[in-house]
Amino acid sequence: MEIIRIPRIMQDTGRTLALRGRSIGLVPTMGALHDGHMSLIRLSRMENHATVVSIFVNPAQFGPGEDLEKYPRDEAEDMQKLRAAGVDTLFMPEAGAMYPEGFSFSVKTGELGGKLEGAFRPGHFDGVATVVAKLFNITLPTRAYFGLKDYQQSLIIRRLAVDMNFPVEVVACPTVREEDGLAMSSRNGYLTPEERRAAPAIYGCLGRAEGMLRSGDSSAGEVTGFLRENLSTEPFVAEVQYAGVYDPLSLDELDEFHGKALIAAAVRIGAARLMDNILI
Ligand code: AMP
Repeated sequence: MEIIRIPRIMQDTGRTLALRGRSIGLVPTMGALHDGHMSLIRLSRMENHATVVSIFVNPAQFGPGEDLEKYPRDEAEDMQKLRAAGVDTLFMPEAGAMYPEGFSFSVKTGELGGKLEGAFRPGHFDGVATVVAKLFNITLPTRAYFGLKDYQQSLIIRRLAVDMNFPVEVVACPTVREEDGLAMSSRNGYLTPEERRAAPAIYGCLGRAEGMLRSGDSSAGEVTGFLRENLSTEPFVAEVQYAGVYDPLSLDELDEFHGKALIAAAVRIGAARLMDNILI
């Protein structure tokens, strides 16, 4: 596996592959890799000649007081996993290489970026969209892989590619879960053992909400009410930041269900902020 830290060198590698007619799959990550990340990598390996994984804890997507400093980092173990998975190139730039002195442009996500996650993390999606636009320009991917675990992110990146004419196919991949249903996340490590045991209740509540919606006995608005009430009374849930049934394209709250919905929630449990969703 080739390890590249300099954007210009990565770009040359991408260009060389493209000239040889090779397709490139890009899997952007912040490291601390788990099976969720690895599922994206496996798909990219199946669909492309070469797979580039990026590891970059992007300062631009963390707000003041968020966990930028303590975000889990384990370069050695990540590299071992990527080698074992047959990844061709690891792109792992320093922050100064991505945001050199004088850096002054950024991507604005507009309305979509201000909803759900964006309402609690102002500027987060601008930071995500900016770094992903840079990664698209640096790695020149044919396809780029994102997890549905971060549904809003995958929606915004798809929009970014369309609106800005990036010649890349954005692929959204299913959420990988622990055996007890908890969505895998690098941030699950922030949970104490008691909190970890309580955390699968989030997915449990989402699942019951899904059942209610599908049965047709309750309106989407009623299901939202059920979800908020139930999540807030779960042990160790300190705060429900948002929860409800949303339109999967506009992310507006739905009153009535007509076959398509995003059931999503973000809660604080101890030191962790956990989010999860079910897409119907
Ligand atoms: P992160 O390192 O958290 O920025 O995640 C990198 C990519 O992996 C993003 O596209 C995430 O949506 C995706 N991802 C994270 N956790 C999971 C999971 N449990 N299942 C599937 N994809 C995931």
